[in-house]
Amino acid sequence: MAGGLHNAITNAVNINATALALFTRNQRRWQHTPLTTQEIDLFIQACQQHNFCSAQILPHDSYLINLGHPDADGLGRSRQAFVEEMQRCRQLGLTLLNFHPGSHLRKISTEASLRRISDSINLALDATQGVTAVIENTAGQGSNLGYNFEQLAQLIHYVEDKSRVGICLDTCHLFAAGYDLRDAIACQQTFTDFDNTVGLTFLRGMHLNDSKGSLGSRLDRHESLGQGEIGNACFEYIVRQPWSRGIPLILETIRSELWSQEITQLRTWAA
Ligand SMILES: [Zn+2]
Repeated sequence: MAGGLHNAITNAVNINATALALFTRNQRRWQHTPLTTQEIDLFIQACQQHNFCSAQILPHDSYLINLGHPDADGLGRSRQAFVEEMQRCRQLGLTLLNFHPGSHLRKISTEASLRRISDSINLALDATQGVTAVIENTAGQGSNLGYNFEQLAQLIHYVEDKSRVGICLDTCHLFAAGYDLRDAIACQQTFTDFDNTVGLTFLRGMHLNDSKGSLGSRLDRHESLGQGEIGNACFEYIVRQPWSRGIPLILETIRSELWSQEITQLRTWAA
């Protein structure tokens, strides 16, 4: 996105990508300036020029937002910032917003924090239009919630408008949280478990990453495809499933110089 949000589109096109992720603001700071009409126009023009529609773009919210925050101040600030993020997506013609559910910071129970996250989603959906809240599964590092399918199902359960909530599954996070993906049989079991507990109908996107950490390590350390503990069989399996068609499959792998090759490899498997 250096030089403007619209550059994300041309940068994606340059590596032959047909999906992309981006931040609509600085993801490590609370302060941000509203989008200008010029920024919005340039972004929408770039999408039109390169035939990118909102279903191919999976924006990510700020890392500072914690929708399950134990303290009133932190929770209030996070909820306000999340609504602003949704509004920014709407201004840019985008329809999905990917976020990490939140963290209890060891101050309140898992149950109480999960409930706060669902309430935060309800408040944001009430205050906005047209944008779906896409919950990403986590590796379960620290006190981060959303690392198992039961927690994801519970989050969705308490969201009132089920048409505007979805899931983004990150393969590195799945594996680090203890879901095996190392061969087709393990993948079949993991995604059947997801379908039974949450539902593949809620899947709105995926992050395809290999993992530096071992199975169940709870470490969020991404690796290039085929070069980590998961291995290529998982990514070959995913791109051949009917449920992975038509949703953004995003690489967050660590060597950007390999993205173009990784995309070509995924396309070869999918075909
Ligand atoms: Zn991710």
